[in-house]
Amino acid sequence: MQKILIANRGEIALRIMKSAKEMGIKTVAVYSEADRNSPHIKYADEAVLLGPPASNKSYLLGDKILKVCKEIGVDAIHPGYGFLSENAEFAEMVEEAGITFIGPSADSMRVMGDKLSAKEAAKKFNIPLVPGTEGAIDDVEEAKKISKEIGFPVLIKASAGGGGKGMRIVENEEEFEEQMQLAVSEAVSAFGNGAVFIEKYVTSPRHIEIQVLCDKHGNRVHLFERECSIQRRHQKVIEEAPSAVLTEEVREQMGKTAVEVAKACDYIGAGTVEFILDQDKNFYFLEMNTRLQVEHPVTEMITGVDLVKEQIKVARNEKLSFAQEDLKIIGHAMEVRVYAENPMENFLPDIGTLIEYQRPHGPGIRVDDGFEEGMAIPIYYDPMISKLITYGKDREEARLRMIRACEDYKVVGLTTTLAFGKYVMENEHFISGNFDTSFVDQHFNPSDLKKSDPEEEEIAALVLAHLLDTEKSKNSVSNTNQQSKSAWKTNRT
Ligand code: ADP
Repeated sequence: MQKILIANRGEIALRIMKSAKEMGIKTVAVYSEADRNSPHIKYADEAVLLGPPASNKSYLLGDKILKVCKEIGVDAIHPGYGFLSENAEFAEMVEEAGITFIGPSADSMRVMGDKLSAKEAAKKFNIPLVPGTEGAIDDVEEAKKISKEIGFPVLIKASAGGGGKGMRIVENEEEFEEQMQLAVSEAVSAFGNGAVFIEKYVTSPRHIEIQVLCDKHGNRVHLFERECSIQRRHQKVIEEAPSAVLTEEVREQMGKTAVEVAKACDYIGAGTVEFILDQDKNFYFLEMNTRLQVEHPVTEMITGVDLVKEQIKVARNEKLSFAQEDLKIIGHAMEVRVYAENPMENFLPDIGTLIEYQRPHGPGIRVDDGFEEGMAIPIYYDPMISKLITYGKDREEARLRMIRACEDYKVVGLTTTLAFGKYVMENEHFISGNFDTSFVDQHFNPSDLKKSDPEEEEIAALVLAHLLDTEKSKNSVSNTNQQSKSAWKTNRT
């Protein structure tokens, strides 16, 4: 494997290129007009413009990407996450063109790409599933009857769903019909497929996932869990590894089960098996993500394994160089996804320009990002600016380090989730480990953030100082404006 094309953008494109570079493999970047100045273009050995900003005119153009590969002699494609990464037809086209797809087979993707077929495959291997309908259901009365049997609350889920879309919690029989209609129409508009199914809503659920790695020679291992329960809109925003609540016994059971799920779909490469854990630490299979996850760095930090390198090695037909017994959890890692979103406005995107952008530094800090100071966050894609990862000898060190890192990270020009990250790190429920996926709804009060936003405090204080100065200068011959401002700043530091 001499040359890899990364069919992606931003932080993940850069992340993949770094591992490829360390392995002596040349890299090719692709980009849209909106990403002309992106660091991933400069970092790659070659870069090719795909087209206008919209994803369907650039990063989703599988044919065009393949054409580029043939023209410049690319021998493997890494799809990253999102875009074409879970597109089975694309994976097939790549392999048919004689190019290596760094990921699982198209068949594994098909089985796991649909939540219902994934559950069906898992069932054959006696994997624990959340009680619910076996297949898609479109008859409202029948669906309501089943929900009553399962017991409310229930979840209506889109079979083709992803990214937390097409999911509705139904608390009681009365609201069932309306919620089902909403779920179906949301599924049609988001995925072009209105198939929905019903699942028991697990109370006090924690989202815990297991990283797996499989080679083409029948070797399969798991790399322990990631706790991803801090979510907004059913989407992850803070992750950590290991989880604060898993016992050794449950960890081992979940790991073994995840390997079984991988076996159930003949999985190759790096994948993630997602589970939901209830209050009594019973776990149920949710779905499998057949790609590298956004939150993979926390696993890399606690295991010392470079997951991208492993993906590349597996794609080169190499055997895994370690067995399950060789893997150990050392230390603790946390990740805050730094989104251009306003946590005080229901996490609505807050797109803008990074007028000032300074990353935190120091021991145990990793920042995976794809932007530089002065760049604008494009409106066309996911508004994630970076991933802030901290590592410590234990959970407490990783947590305190994350607080420092959130404070040291300077982003001016738009609102980010950094203040929210710090808020979570300081929250008693997070500290004790006693939280579930409803953390944001239950414990986050946006007004708490206002109180603790040092930047806003600073601006308010500067305005106040300025007003006082103006008042003073009205009554005095000498202008003390600058002096009092700097005096206030000195007091603060
Ligand atoms: P998506 O593919 O859209 O991300 P998932 O099935 O992975 O959907 O679920 C996303 C999130 O929704 C989970 O992390 C969890 O918070 C919640 N969730 C999913 N299924 C259940 C369930 N049966 N009970 C409670 N919460 C659930």
